[in-house]
Amino acid sequence: MKILIADDDKIGRLVLAKQLETWGHQVLQAVDGMEAFAIFQQEVPPLVITDWMMPKLDGPGLCSKIREEESDSDNLCFIILLTSKESSEDLAQGIQAGANDFITKPFEPLELQARLRNGEWILNLQAELKRKKEEAVQLSRTDALTQLMNRRAMLDTMRLDEDRMRRERRPLGLVMIDLDHFKAVNDNYGHNMGDTVLKGAAECFSSAIRGGDYVGRWGGEEFLIALPGADIIQCAEVAERCRNQLAAMRFTTEDGETIQVTASFGTASAEGADRVELLDLVEQADRALYWAKDSGRNRVKIYVASADPNLKQNPRG
Ligand SMILES: [Mg+2]
Repeated sequence: MKILIADDDKIGRLVLAKQLETWGHQVLQAVDGMEAFAIFQQEVPPLVITDWMMPKLDGPGLCSKIREEESDSDNLCFIILLTSKESSEDLAQGIQAGANDFITKPFEPLELQARLRNGEWILNLQAELKRKKEEAVQLSRTDALTQLMNRRAMLDTMRLDEDRMRRERRPLGLVMIDLDHFKAVNDNYGHNMGDTVLKGAAECFSSAIRGGDYVGRWGGEEFLIALPGADIIQCAEVAERCRNQLAAMRFTTEDGETIQVTASFGTASAEGADRVELLDLVEQADRALYWAKDSGRNRVKIYVASADPNLKQNPRG
């Protein structure tokens, strides 16, 4: 473990460093609180052992600065204050400042070892908790069947990208996809086959998109691709590639029958000074998808405002 020790007493510091190194730890040394804090910022050691009385910045002061530095982080270091002070007011002050534990000077190796183990135990718990938290966030954003982003994750990510594209004055493109006659797959071959088709389609779209684009499961048999920076033509190209690759796939049923699945695609892109809001853009892609369904399925339609009857209620100029 990487351990930072701060002590203005040279002998005490070297004895401590030597002991820690004997146990296999990597030791960083500072002669006062300010130097310790500078090293802390640079190296972010998981464990700090600091003297109480030091010039420039004392132990409790160092604790406070470290805790302030860590305020946005899930990774809190374990701080042990070295002290010859033993009044309960002093200990309370140390804890208040952010110390986790104390060792009295001069330290007893056995006690030090026990306190280090305690620190490691806490640090491991903290790491485990962080991992579980990340796992839970990941699960809440992932569609269990296809492993794609779910609708919520797509919306969050697209909002960030729409803000970024707006700032950079670049377009944001969307491709809304709906598998054709998907209900018939479930009805004729069962829901397992339906799941197989959804997973296959997800893989197909994931492999057909460009780097920087992303695809999510939007609803039952609906998928959405976001294409930061793509104008409507680039969206249509990606959609057409997805359409082709899906249509070329063959799925084998439990009875050994081979089936083919197609999808319809609607594309829209927001650009220019009076670009539409994200949810309106989703709506436009959805409308283009409806046109694709309406004109025979297994095709790509691009959203054109002048072709949208819904906009007639809202004439311009
Ligand atoms: Mg001192």
